[in-house]
Amino acid sequence: GRLAAGMAHELGTPLNVVSGRAQMIASGDLLPAEAARNATIISEQARRMTTLMRQLLDFARRGSTRREPTSLEHLVRGVLNLLASSAAKKDVSLGMHADPELPQVAVDPAKMQQVVTNLILNGIQATPRGGRVDVELSYLKAGETNGMQNDTAKIVVQDTGPGIPPENLDQLFEPFFTTKDVGEGTGLGLSIVYGIVEEHGGRIEVASPPGEGARFTLYLPFEAAQ
Ligand code: ADP
Repeated sequence: GRLAAGMAHELGTPLNVVSGRAQMIASGDLLPAEAARNATIISEQARRMTTLMRQLLDFARRGSTRREPTSLEHLVRGVLNLLASSAAKKDVSLGMHADPELPQVAVDPAKMQQVVTNLILNGIQATPRGGRVDVELSYLKAGETNGMQNDTAKIVVQDTGPGIPPENLDQLFEPFFTTKDVGEGTGLGLSIVYGIVEEHGGRIEVASPPGEGARFTLYLPFEAAQ
């Protein structure tokens, strides 16, 4: 229900703009320069809706999870390579530290890639120039402080950005919660992350101690739950 309400809201605004501007053009009363400006606005709004649709498709595709033994180190390295140029553009350094003992984990590689991408990209976006986003991969035995029943892989994504205000922590994983400007964030990224982690029987936590940036921690059981 919340997703549908959010959708209606998120699509309603750009659709209003598109129809208003299209009517202005259709009236035939505009100077060519004004018509061109309105056409540009229409195209920006269309792009905003396309982004939203793409994210909604990601959301809907959650149904089928195909797990296979996966090297998380390899997967994260691939994502870091893909995001290297976005990070370089913002002068943000990316780093990874992986426990060499970490065995392969049964995950859906495409979905886990999306999880890691969303977390690192959020980190890059939040971090000012000269900052860092670091990923750490480690191995936890059952019961080691994280409350999980089985052996788990732990993935930490830590940035050096401003962190997350305490009053936002509770809503972070809700669909459509965003603090970014209209057209820049849809607020679906972390809700998709949350859904995928749940499907894997895992857990995600967020911490933002004052002055330390944001830290997202993922716990993934090695085997699919029966
Ligand atoms: P979006 O990125 O489209 O806003 P997300 O669901 O990915 O949607 O994130 C929701 C909100 O969580 C962001 O708008 C931002 O306020 C906050 N957030 C997420 N990651 C970070 C981070 N690394 N540092 C600070 N704030 C963050």
